[in-house]
Amino acid sequence: MIRKLLQRVFKSSKQPSQAPARSGHGAKTIPASVHRIDRKLVSVGALKTTQQLQKAGFDAYLVGGAVRDLLLKKRPKDFDVATSATPEQVNRVFRRSRIIGRRFRLVHVMFGDETVEVSTFRGSHLSPDEDNARVADSGRILRDNVFGNQEQDAVRRDFTANALYYDPSTEEIVDFHDGVADIKAGILRMIGDAETRYREDPVRMLRAVRLSAKLGLKLDKATEAPISKLADLLHDVPPSRLFDEMLKLFLSGHAMESATELRKHGLHHGLLPLLDVVLEQPLGARFVNLALKNTDDRVLADKPVSPGFLFATLLWHEVLAAWQKYQKAGHRPMPALHMAMSEVADIQAEKLAIHKRYSSTMKEIWGLQPRFEMRAGKRPYGLLEHPRYRAAYDFLLLRCESGELPAELGQWWTDFADADSEKRQAMLLPDHQPKKRRRRRSGRASSSGNPSTSES
Ligand code: ATP
Ligand code: MG
Repeated sequence: MIRKLLQRVFKSSKQPSQAPARSGHGAKTIPASVHRIDRKLVSVGALKTTQQLQKAGFDAYLVGGAVRDLLLKKRPKDFDVATSATPEQVNRVFRRSRIIGRRFRLVHVMFGDETVEVSTFRGSHLSPDEDNARVADSGRILRDNVFGNQEQDAVRRDFTANALYYDPSTEEIVDFHDGVADIKAGILRMIGDAETRYREDPVRMLRAVRLSAKLGLKLDKATEAPISKLADLLHDVPPSRLFDEMLKLFLSGHAMESATELRKHGLHHGLLPLLDVVLEQPLGARFVNLALKNTDDRVLADKPVSPGFLFATLLWHEVLAAWQKYQKAGHRPMPALHMAMSEVADIQAEKLAIHKRYSSTMKEIWGLQPRFEMRAGKRPYGLLEHPRYRAAYDFLLLRCESGELPAELGQWWTDFADADSEKRQAMLLPDHQPKKRRRRRSGRASSSGNPSTSES
């Protein structure tokens, strides 16, 4: 479908009079009649930013994902501007702006609710200036914050489709690496030698998988080929950076496809070491696939998604396995669950630093699961009032849908939440537990429920 759309968009490029002109430094200048970007899709803030910088005598273009998305007729979620002005010069042009970042100094320019990110053209990472560009033994770039010209800025970007510069005032695109032609052909291609670029920054392998899934672009052969061989390089990437990329990957609206591609290229080992094991069991695979599909549906319907919920699903079957292990070793269900949760979260944290606010949601969702099996007395009322009830209930439904739990249990909670007080009373199961077993047994018993009262 995208190919058809692009053919329509670029139909006019076949006419010789409209062929892209080559500018001085090996770049093509592509007019609006050829690229057909709808300028109305450019935000007011982005327009004002480029206009005012240009008025102050600097070069200024929209760049990166926004231009790529405009060419693909997708509405960009944010706009980045690249300019010849230094951060201080940008800061002087805009009253409401501030310089941010240490490694990369950028300027945020504010217009009402909108923030436009402005970066100064960056120089080549191959600069001999040792102070500004450092390369590790593996080839990974540790610092690259030298300023440069537009051509140098283009060459240090990752994909040809991401290295396009759009000037809203002339409506022309400056294209150094034939990115427009690649987009037109439906291809995502790394600029330069792919292996070298992945060694410089292994996260580019994840970006390749994510962007090709999200944009419906096919990975160019030479761009795809080295990925499996280099997958292990992800081990050297700081866990916090991996986490940010993972979040984008799974919240792109194409999580299913992205996960399949990650596995195909062996990239998931470095991210979710436990996912491999889970996906080998039919029940685990079914659960994860359902969860990813659910996430994709929500993203595509513009509904909010919770990263904590998503990670809770990705790791659940690993928690289940560890939970059983601790129970077999003689621990009571609830302490065993908490031991399993910590074990799984710790193994995961070595690879991927899941932000604390997400991992606490994740643990709350897991910790509430046994309480859904307690359907007698006052306990179900307490669970309904819990602030995480809704997330934990959605999680329960996925467990039922995947076949891990009987569908009847999920239905019972759906009905119980909907029922009036009389009906709720009638729905409660008889409480067979002798009173004395209700006491807390040890300091380890969780606040989220006492397993000794479980029906199961
Ligand atoms: P998205 O739509 O997901 O935001 P994006 O391509 O805009 O995709 P950003 O992380 O916002 O991704 O990056 C903006 C631009 O910065 C990219 O389009 C690309 O030109 C450049 N870029 C980002 N990450 C890298 C990288 N790891 N190596 C080289 N260039 C990069
Ligand atoms: Mg972006």
